[in-house]
Amino acid sequence: MAGSSFQKLVGYARPYQRDLWLGALALLLVNALGVFLPWYVKVAIDDLSTIVDRLGPSELSGQVGRVTAYAAVIAVVATVMALVRTASRMWMFGVGRQVEFDLKQQIFQHLLTLPPSYFGRQSVGELINRSTSDVENVRRLLGFAVLSMFNTVFAYGLTLPAMLALDLQLTLIALSVYPLMLVLVSLTSERLRRQQMVVQNRLGEMSELIQEDMNGIALIKVYGQEANEQREFAKRNQHLLQANLDLALTRNLLFPTLTALAGTGLLVLLLLGGPRIVAGDITLGDFAAFTLYVERLVFPTALLGFTLTAYQRGQVSIERLEAILAEDPSIRDAPNAVTLSETRGHIAARNLTFSYPEARHPTLDRVNFEMQAGQTVAIVGPIGSGKSTLANALLHLVEVEPKTLFLDDIDITRIRLHSLRQEIAYVPQESFLFGASIRDNIRYGKPATTHWDVEAAAKAARIHEEILNFPQQYDTIVGERGITLSGGQRQRVALARALLLDAPVLILDDSLSSVDNQTGQDILTNISRSTATKTVVFVSHRLTAAASADRILVLDEGRIVQTGSHRELLQDPDGLYGILWRKQQLENTLVETS
Ligand code: ADP
Ligand code: MG
Repeated sequence: MAGSSFQKLVGYARPYQRDLWLGALALLLVNALGVFLPWYVKVAIDDLSTIVDRLGPSELSGQVGRVTAYAAVIAVVATVMALVRTASRMWMFGVGRQVEFDLKQQIFQHLLTLPPSYFGRQSVGELINRSTSDVENVRRLLGFAVLSMFNTVFAYGLTLPAMLALDLQLTLIALSVYPLMLVLVSLTSERLRRQQMVVQNRLGEMSELIQEDMNGIALIKVYGQEANEQREFAKRNQHLLQANLDLALTRNLLFPTLTALAGTGLLVLLLLGGPRIVAGDITLGDFAAFTLYVERLVFPTALLGFTLTAYQRGQVSIERLEAILAEDPSIRDAPNAVTLSETRGHIAARNLTFSYPEARHPTLDRVNFEMQAGQTVAIVGPIGSGKSTLANALLHLVEVEPKTLFLDDIDITRIRLHSLRQEIAYVPQESFLFGASIRDNIRYGKPATTHWDVEAAAKAARIHEEILNFPQQYDTIVGERGITLSGGQRQRVALARALLLDAPVLILDDSLSSVDNQTGQDILTNISRSTATKTVVFVSHRLTAAASADRILVLDEGRIVQTGSHRELLQDPDGLYGILWRKQQLENTLVETS
């Protein structure tokens, strides 16, 4: 295993080292008893055979008690061994389980710190795969592989001296097959590791497709692509099958070969040992004990192969898990971050520039503006002009350069993220609802809210009446296991969620695009009237909705090209706002007369 993954492994297990050592101690005891038992059998056999030689058949019946005593000791020792072995497994496998739990916690916690852009780059299927099956592999490594490693070391360390004490020549013969086993195992191990990696990657590719297709099921149906998707799935499934078969082939060739080698060793031992008993070199008891010792070593040696697989798998998994944990949460609290109190809601941008990693042009290009506390400011502009990016910048969801964006004259990169986001209620362009009740969705930001407040927010978002018509009203579950809301209903539930927060700044990113014009207008007028002290940033591609704002910023290709009130902006007929306005008026007339 690469040094760093090994260090990681030690790090995972450190909190549970007491149990690991207890487990190891128990294994040591088991192996010590395991060496004692064959020796005791030898003593018993040798003793009994002298008696048989010495006494006549009539006297032998009186010796049954002797045999029973030997058998009783053997039974007691074997029972103690079984109990102690069970204890060792519980301790060591327990450590694996604990570490599995910790890793899951750690990964989930880390995922929550990563910016939304990370999840745009990373497939969700792959992430799920890593946080389940890779974590499981680490558990097996820590539980099974470590246990087996200790066991092998103790078994060899204690059994070998006992064998040597019995007979050097027989020991060398018995062990001669083990180097062959080790060569076989080490030749196969690299191959196993590679194949394991392929299996895991293909599993990830398959989960990804399932995830994507289930999300896009309507699209698949509308475009009649079921057969195509089925073919793609079959392809990936076939790839996975092939990878699993390759892996199984390697494994299934390895272990029977190992067993056969061990069997051959025992056979040679019988062939060469038999004549030596007859010649009187060794006693019958010696030979019996010897074969028992050789048997004791077969299992740990063969297990070494399994251990190696678990080890290889675990190593791949540790690398993949560490890659997630090493992912830098690029947006995090500054060392001396401040917590806001009594935010007024004054927002300013000074030469705010932002580029997505692979974009050729900046998405926000030297943007300057000022929004007074309590104002309602509309941001309009063509699709792709950077409106949503600007909204995300205000929430520090994308990386913002220091000293370019300010809330109440405080550089937002210096504000504690949690505090900043507490002061801003935000309704994203894509309204997202959790698979929970309408009530819990609305009070998501403040779970302890009373029903009365939830209802007030729903009324302000003009969704209350419709909720009353749902089967269980506010308790109706939405999402995958509940009812499906229309786009406009989802947007209004998402709006209610934001309104409930009662934050000094409210950002709506085209949040009413699927709500009909009249209702949209009603909601906005109502919000601006009831939120005189709030700063409302209202992103819209629909200019009629923006017309009533105190001020309008017109964005084009990341730059602010015009600012002013609706009336002021219309005075420049060649300005972008004027052009967009006339175009939309024309569209509206066409819709009304058609
Ligand atoms: P708007 O909201 O005005 O429609 P956006 O802010 O969503 O515009 O997008 C502005 C530009 O940035 C577009 O060209 C878009 O393709 C690009 N863009 C948006 N989000 C990302 C992203 N996560 N990664 C890369 N480019 C992006
Ligand atoms: Mg947008």
